[in-house]
Amino acid sequence: MSRRQFLQTSTFAIGASMLPTAWLSQLLAPAGEMKTLRNNVGIFTERGGTIAWMIDKEGLVVVDTQFPDTAVHLIEGIRKQNERRVDLLINTHHHGDHSGGNIAFKGIVDKVVAHKNSKANQERTAIAAKSEDKQLYPDTTYETTWSQKVGSETMSLHYFGPGHTNGDSFVHFENANVVHCGDLMFNRRFPNIDRAAGASIANWIVALGKARKTFSKDTLYVFGHGAEGLPVTGTEKDLIAMQNYLSKLLKFIKKEIKAGKTKEQILEAKYQVIPGAEEWKGQGIERSLTTAFDELMEGKSKK
Ligand SMILES: [Zn+2]
Ligand SMILES: [Zn+2]
Repeated sequence: MSRRQFLQTSTFAIGASMLPTAWLSQLLAPAGEMKTLRNNVGIFTERGGTIAWMIDKEGLVVVDTQFPDTAVHLIEGIRKQNERRVDLLINTHHHGDHSGGNIAFKGIVDKVVAHKNSKANQERTAIAAKSEDKQLYPDTTYETTWSQKVGSETMSLHYFGPGHTNGDSFVHFENANVVHCGDLMFNRRFPNIDRAAGASIANWIVALGKARKTFSKDTLYVFGHGAEGLPVTGTEKDLIAMQNYLSKLLKFIKKEIKAGKTKEQILEAKYQVIPGAEEWKGQGIERSLTTAFDELMEGKSKK
């Protein structure tokens, strides 16, 4: 079947549920983009969480893996420059848009590392989804910090307590001074906050503060996700903005609870932004509102 025939047939087959033009542009888009940031460190973006990589003669590192199909595109991109085994595969956390593509590295990677809670979350969710055969789990875990030299780089992982989940790592390429924040950073886009996996908005703010202390003014940060049209890399200023979003969210919901509002009433009000953090917009504010409500109510019941 020619590409044109395939497109026509498939467009017909998917029906009206998806706009053919949007679907077409997605299909015709290049298979992922590799962009160098500093030294031999860069990012890969296609679908799902941003991937970071380090490619040199003496070492290969990949941080996060998106999905199996996009991970294959990343591997193709790496293979244009380097044929060695992947020394280190790191997951910032367990979510499927960050660890789902691990399986594409089966047999070509020496070591898979994540925080111990990330591994436990990956196992728990895979068992529940009956998708254990589609996983490649970490074989190495850590609790507070972990470090290894790979080629010209020193890779360091830091855990500052629960945030987006209870197993998020900051991953530091020390020589390039690039830090992958995983989903602890959503650039001006409402974040996913996974309470079922032990998330904490209050400690998320603390964790970003610890990152700012640990890394330097010159650090270049990689974000898990960004709003449409905004970059998935940035500086300490963006971490401060994220801290501000999370604290304004807690402050806002605290006020709503004090005013006697129920979760349903808060949702019915159809808020579009959080007062004091209006840069955060788009879809998904409900997740922020409900998780903040649940976290604050849980805090109350504990007192
Ligand atoms: Zn993500
Ligand atoms: Zn996530």
